[in-house]
Amino acid sequence: MGPLLFRSTNLQSPAVNLRDAMLTGQAPDRGLYFPEKFPCLAPEEIAAFTNLPYHEIAFRVLSRFTAGVVPDEALAAMCREAYNFVIPLEKTYDRIHVMRLDQGPTASFKDFAAQMMARLFGYFLRETGQQLTILTATSGDTGAAVAHAFHNIPGVRVIVLFPFDEVSRSQRKMMTTLSDNVRTVAIDGKFDDCQAMVKRAFADPELKHIPLSSANSINIGRLLPQSVYYFYAASRVAQPGEPTVFAVPSGNFGDMMGAVVAKQMGLPIKKLIAPVNSNDAFPKFLETAHYEKISPSRNAVSNAMNVGHPSNLARLVAVYGGRMDETGKIHQMPDLAAMRRDVFSSSVSDERTRETIREVWNKYGLLLEAHGAVAWRGFLDWLAVEPMGDVPAVILETANPAKFPEEIEKTIGFSPDVPATMEAMNQMPEDFDRMGANYDAFRKYLLEKHA
Ligand SMILES: *Cc1c(COP(=O)(O)O)cnc(C)c1O
Repeated sequence: MGPLLFRSTNLQSPAVNLRDAMLTGQAPDRGLYFPEKFPCLAPEEIAAFTNLPYHEIAFRVLSRFTAGVVPDEALAAMCREAYNFVIPLEKTYDRIHVMRLDQGPTASFKDFAAQMMARLFGYFLRETGQQLTILTATSGDTGAAVAHAFHNIPGVRVIVLFPFDEVSRSQRKMMTTLSDNVRTVAIDGKFDDCQAMVKRAFADPELKHIPLSSANSINIGRLLPQSVYYFYAASRVAQPGEPTVFAVPSGNFGDMMGAVVAKQMGLPIKKLIAPVNSNDAFPKFLETAHYEKISPSRNAVSNAMNVGHPSNLARLVAVYGGRMDETGKIHQMPDLAAMRRDVFSSSVSDERTRETIREVWNKYGLLLEAHGAVAWRGFLDWLAVEPMGDVPAVILETANPAKFPEEIEKTIGFSPDVPATMEAMNQMPEDFDRMGANYDAFRKYLLEKHA
């Protein structure tokens, strides 16, 4: 049996193995790579996760995708190295839990994907002897997670662009205190400017000789590792075979697609709740069957979810038999009735987000930041329309409250404790370049750096 193949959601490019799908990022037809067929785990295999540590579950899930392209021993070592931090599951009331995915090196759930993706990239590049420059634009969490994950990976250079005025000091420190193969460039402009500069670089014929790749969330290598924590959570809170409810705060829909992948592989999920902030294109689509992206995207307090057109929707639509292209145009309608049975979504305003942070703190002594609060409120929105029954629920908290001290202080009157790793980074000297939102200057910079 050959390795598992990945095909493009636009169906116009040849299917490729995981290595090629990851190194290419986006398929040549501009679609997103997705498994041609999902590997399945038998109920006994999933039941056996109950007694296994996280890195071992990660190995058993991910090896189904890497078989034939990464040897098992290499993958097992990557899992052990990548997942050496705790994943708290806090019980609130009844069988409702909060899973904190904020204990990685940069205190957001993006570490789960970035840590694994960087190691897989490193492995593939060693194998082919290639050198690669990873170019990424960030509004905060992604840049930090990617910079940390790729720091000191041989064969890779990382260049991160961020909008100087739109990133908090603590978010900036997580990117600018590294050096070696990681360069950060502060742009005097907006996130949109950074993203536009990166896009132009990818399409620039004068840069053709520089092998560029991206680490953004359309890369299948960032999506697959995000299926593991759903298996992990269920193994800790559910009886074998018992379905779980998950609530996942959603922006670009990569995190919730991790749950969809887990379900396709055999994990019983009763309902997948994917609430959004005021960028409500998805809940509207689910309700009306009419998709209209939000442009420009709306600014909300859960700023990592300010996405007007979630690119991973193309993958969700594909799972339900439809086809959506990269612009959001639907060529074939998915089975919406089935999607509604499996998935619930609502839009949570900033006012409801802040109310939720206060309410959860006062009632349960549990501190959520804005992204986790959107998940909690979306879960309550679902409870108002469907009976939960006696099954467990897991609400995902995707960032550490200490990343947003001003917002928390404003909402509940005190600022959160800062974890030791974050505190250490706050003390380190910064080193970054700075330029205007000028593409020609950026091209010159890339050419000089490459020489
Ligand atoms: C990126 C991010 C999200 C949204 O995840 P998607 O995969 O884009 O839906 C939610 N919370 C935090 C803290 C994030 O950084």
